[in-house]
Amino acid sequence: MINAEVAHAAGAELGEGCVWSPVEDLLVWVDIDGRTVHRFDHHTGRPVSTVGYGDQVGNAEPRVGGGLVLGLGRSVALTGPDGEVEAAVALPGEPETNRTNDGAVDPAGRLFQGTMAKDIVSGGGSLYRVDPDRSVRRVVEGVQISNGIDWSLDGETMYYIDTLAYRVDRFDYDLATGEISGRRPFLTFDGSTGGPDGMTIDADGCLWVAFFGGYHVQRFSPEGERLEVVVTPGAPNPTCCCFGGPGLDALYVTTARHRMTDEQLQAEANAGALFVADVDAVGRPANLFAG
Ligand code: CA
Repeated sequence: MINAEVAHAAGAELGEGCVWSPVEDLLVWVDIDGRTVHRFDHHTGRPVSTVGYGDQVGNAEPRVGGGLVLGLGRSVALTGPDGEVEAAVALPGEPETNRTNDGAVDPAGRLFQGTMAKDIVSGGGSLYRVDPDRSVRRVVEGVQISNGIDWSLDGETMYYIDTLAYRVDRFDYDLATGEISGRRPFLTFDGSTGGPDGMTIDADGCLWVAFFGGYHVQRFSPEGERLEVVVTPGAPNPTCCCFGGPGLDALYVTTARHRMTDEQLQAEANAGALFVADVDAVGRPANLFAG
């Protein structure tokens, strides 16, 4: 078991979506309810900037040419290097009661964008695929809280988390077309360790899964064996994790104050902080959105 340390006492309402941007040499993360995109300098250990938006920011992924692709409200937005929104891509049929939540870019530069109901309980979220030509298709329906997504080392499997299903599922993945098929459970949980949330896969093909409500991140082998636990002391709600730093050898973890009572917030000093842990693994370079 490894204890993560507070890298930045950010006090985020719903810290999420961390990703290492090789383009910027910075860690990028979002506060969904704070409607902000944050940048953190691994080298100095200090926050660099905060950019605000007019709606909830569900996730942020680096683009090939610089800037980010954001889940913004119930659409996808493309920003330039200065953070300004250059173009918006609608997610057709997505109800006003939903918002974007987590997303990931595949090794071919396609964006997979999840959504969920803002009130959580009414369901009806989806997973969309946004291709580099900005065409959109809904690829999974009936999702409760669309969350972590990543690919196996050979790109032939896509792992996917719907938090309230308490599972990590896998799909067969066709990297040439972006088609997913053959969804089946990979890891099944009983909720006693929290809800599986964000996820990243390291250079050994092992999954790192954040457990909201569980104060920790767990590492699993490709065979599903639990290999490591990284604890976030004083922060019950880890939401997402990624490897950062130029060597991709630091595990960053975002956390949330979301839905905590005043009493809980008094007791949990680090809720909403950005954490970093020294672990015996390295990450893979982030895939860049090609649109
Ligand atoms: Ca999440």
